[in-house]
Amino acid sequence: MTTAETAPTGQPGAQDAARRSYDVLIVGGGPAGLSAAEAAAKGGARVALLERQKEIGYPIHTSGGSWISDMKALNIPSELYYPIRSVFFLSPHREVRFDYPDPVCCVLDVRGVYQHLAGRAVAAGANLHPNSPVERPIVEDGKVVGVVAKDHRNRITEWRAPVVIDASGFSCTLSTRANLHAGYKRYGYGAEYDFYAPNYDPNSLYLIMGSQVAPAGYAWAFPRGKGRVRLGVGVIRPDVEADAREYLDTFAERLPSLAPVFAGASPIEYHTGLFPSEGVVERFVGEGLIATGDAAGHGSTLVGEGIRFAIYSGQMAGAVAAEAVRAGDSSAQFLARYDRQWRARFGREMDISYIVNQRIAAWSDEKWDEGIELLKRLTPAQAAELLRGDYSAGLFLGVLRRNPGLLRTGARKFFELAMQRLGRPGPLSDADLATSNA
Ligand SMILES: Cc1cc2nc3c(=O)[nH]c(=O)nc-3n(C[C@H](O)[C@H](O)[C@H](O)COP(=O)(O)OP(=O)(O)OC[C@H]3O[C@@H](n4cnc5c(N)ncnc54)[C@H](O)[C@@H]3O)c2cc1C
Repeated sequence: MTTAETAPTGQPGAQDAARRSYDVLIVGGGPAGLSAAEAAAKGGARVALLERQKEIGYPIHTSGGSWISDMKALNIPSELYYPIRSVFFLSPHREVRFDYPDPVCCVLDVRGVYQHLAGRAVAAGANLHPNSPVERPIVEDGKVVGVVAKDHRNRITEWRAPVVIDASGFSCTLSTRANLHAGYKRYGYGAEYDFYAPNYDPNSLYLIMGSQVAPAGYAWAFPRGKGRVRLGVGVIRPDVEADAREYLDTFAERLPSLAPVFAGASPIEYHTGLFPSEGVVERFVGEGLIATGDAAGHGSTLVGEGIRFAIYSGQMAGAVAAEAVRAGDSSAQFLARYDRQWRARFGREMDISYIVNQRIAAWSDEKWDEGIELLKRLTPAQAAELLRGDYSAGLFLGVLRRNPGLLRTGARKFFELAMQRLGRPGPLSDADLATSNA
């Protein structure tokens, strides 16, 4: 055991508390926390991770849509994701299909991936503690120095460390209590059945928009192999009051055209979850504290995609935490290198995704039909880049070249804003499109 365990502290309310000391404490065993644990342990730190649930990867609060190139880059074994060959976008009166003979997107075995990440963290030397809900941060002289948690026998324990990482997801338990940020007021709210659906085409993934199926959001059907399909509905609160659970339960009546593919299907699991949908928080670090993953708004608000970003962000957070331990400096000033690294890598894409999300969340059914018409003019590669939020000046100019009429619509402002974020300020003209080699 790589921890120092000491007698009670004698502080008020903590008379019975055991005390444990580590270098880095992580709250939350989702993809962000598990990746942070692996990275911090690899950086030489003594790491403990506290997860309130009894099992890593259960219950599931996510649909697991992701991208094969990222899973490869993150060394996730290929048996833990299912490749997708056709992507359908449906609006009330339109449909477009993109085929990927060499699949680019995938659906994760979510529990399998999270348990794989847990195994990696343990192999690197981290100590994982399921069934250990964290109640609050310990703050001394304005600095986070640990947390108070219950253990699996309901005993209160004080966990102390110079660096504490909040990877508690949407609840952002520590960040809000340590006044790093105020939590989320705008959020995606999703409900999903995981079906056994023997008649569903296992190659086809659907994204479905429109007020009938998912006001200010979208519905999805994600196949994941062996006859399993996740069918879900997500809406954005408080943009709309709609209850995603009700829309999911009435999906077959709302979209009868898709009902036959679910003939003979039955749910095996039911999932619900919340996803922050108001952009990246202003500060990721405080004195002794780092927030990562959904706890810092690190997912893409474009389609509510956060798993790969949580893994990348957790890895960065864990590495910086270990650096801070080695340097003996866990001040906000030292930890701010994490903030800078993250923004340099993901900041622009996340800003643009949020701009797009706010626009499309307000689209009418007619606007969605127009949007699908526009998508029809893209190549499968361009559609995938847009969906991934892999924005570049070349991508936007490429889209405009195939749809020059867009420069004469309200979308022009968006493209100019996006190009500005990508470092190409100034008005766009037909000449830009003619001269670009996108
Ligand atoms: C309905 C829905 C569908 C989604 N679909 C996709 C998708 O298809 N693809 C995709 O990439 N992303 C998707 N996301 C987003 C994705 O799930 C998140 O971005 C991702 O899970 C964030 O990872 P995380 O580690 O930051 O947080 P989480 O995965 O939320 O993990 C946080 C962990 O902290 C634990 N915890 C919380 N509070 C405490 C506490 N007090 N003490 C101890 N432990 C605590 C929780 O139990 C949990 O295990 C979806 C989200 C929702 C809600």
